[in-house]
Amino acid sequence: MDSPLIDPFARPISYLRVSVTDRCDFRCVYCMAENMTFLPKAELLTLEELDRLCSSFIGLGVRKLRVTGGEPLVRKGIMTFFQAMKRHLDSGALEELTLTTNGSQLGRFAQELVDCGVRRVNVSIDTLDEAKFARITRWGRLRQVLDGIEAAQRAGLRIKINAVALKGVNEDELFEMVEWCAAGDMDLTFIEVMPMGDMGGEDRLDQYWSLKDLRARLAERYTLEPLAERTGGPASYVRLVETGSKIGFITPLTHNFCESCNRVRLTCTGELYMCLGQEDRADLRAPLRASGDDRALEAAIRDAIARKPKGHDFDYSRQKVDGQVSRHMSHTGG
Ligand code: SAM
Ligand code: SF4
Repeated sequence: MDSPLIDPFARPISYLRVSVTDRCDFRCVYCMAENMTFLPKAELLTLEELDRLCSSFIGLGVRKLRVTGGEPLVRKGIMTFFQAMKRHLDSGALEELTLTTNGSQLGRFAQELVDCGVRRVNVSIDTLDEAKFARITRWGRLRQVLDGIEAAQRAGLRIKINAVALKGVNEDELFEMVEWCAAGDMDLTFIEVMPMGDMGGEDRLDQYWSLKDLRARLAERYTLEPLAERTGGPASYVRLVETGSKIGFITPLTHNFCESCNRVRLTCTGELYMCLGQEDRADLRAPLRASGDDRALEAAIRDAIARKPKGHDFDYSRQKVDGQVSRHMSHTGG
C-alpha cells in the first residue's frame, strides 16, 4: 500500500459500507415508497466489479467492510461476493466483514455467511408486534425475521438489533425490546429517524422521537453506565447494569458525530458518497469500466476522499427539515 486514505480533516478512512442492491423485499415506510422504480440492471455493478472496487479500497487501507442495501441478501448470487471477500479476511488485510439486513433471508444464508468469515450481523427490527411490523415494513412478516435470527444464532453469528425510534409507533415497546434483546444476548441500537428520500404522505417530524427522550425513559427503569467505546460511527453506547446488555444510540440529528467519521459509502452503481448527509459524490464506475488497470480507479478514490466534507447539515431544530437529501436510504445504504 502506497499511503492510506486520509481525508482533508486528518480522518483516516478505514470503513467502507457498500450497498449491493437498491432492491428489497420490504417497503419500510421511512425508507421506501410502496411503488418503487428500481435501477435497470445495466446500471448496477456486477459482482465482479463490486469485488474489484472493494478490493481496491482494502488495498488502500479499508479494514472494515459492511454490506448493505436495499436488502443485501436479495441480490442474486450475493454469496459469491461474500466468498470473494473472504480472501481479504484470510490474508489479514480485512479485519471485519459484516452486513446489515432485514433478516428475511437469514434462515437461508446464515451458515454460508459464517463459512465466508462473517461473525456479526445487524438485523433491523423496529417492533415485536406482528401487526405493527406489517404496517411499518408493508411487505414484511415478523415470524420470518424471528426465525432468521434464530437460524443465525444457531450458526454462531452474533446479532445486533437496529431499531428506528418512532414516536407513537414503538414508544410503548421500549422495555419489551430491551428485555427481548437482553434475553437473547443481543445488543440493541436505536436510530433516530432521518429525513431521507421522498417524504410521501409520511411526516418524519411527527414520527421523530429524540433519543435524548428515549434515553431518559430508559433511565427511569435501568441504571445506565456510559461506555467509552467508539466505533468511529455515530453511535454512543451504555450498559444497563440490571441486564448487563449493551444499548447503542445513533443520533445523527441531535449530535455532531462527524469529527470521528472514518467511513464512506459506495452505492450499487459505483457512486461513492463521502458523507451520508451531503449530495457530493464521485463516480467510480467510469474509471472502473474504462480500464482493467486499477491505477485510474485508485486515483479516482483518492480524489474523492480529498473532497470528503467536514460534516452533514441535517437539522430538525427549526421545526422544519433542513438539509434534507433527496435520495433514498436504500440507495446509499444504511
Ligand atoms: N435492508 C437492510 C435493513 O433494513 O437492515 C439494510 C439497508 S437499510 C437502508 C439500513 C438501516 O437503515 C436499517 O436499520 C433501517 O432501519 C435504516 N433506515 C432506513 N431509512 C431510515 C430513515 N429514514 N431514518 C433512519 N434510519 C433509516
Ligand atoms: Fe428494505 Fe431495509 Fe429499507 Fe426496510 S429499511 S425498505 S428492509 S432497505
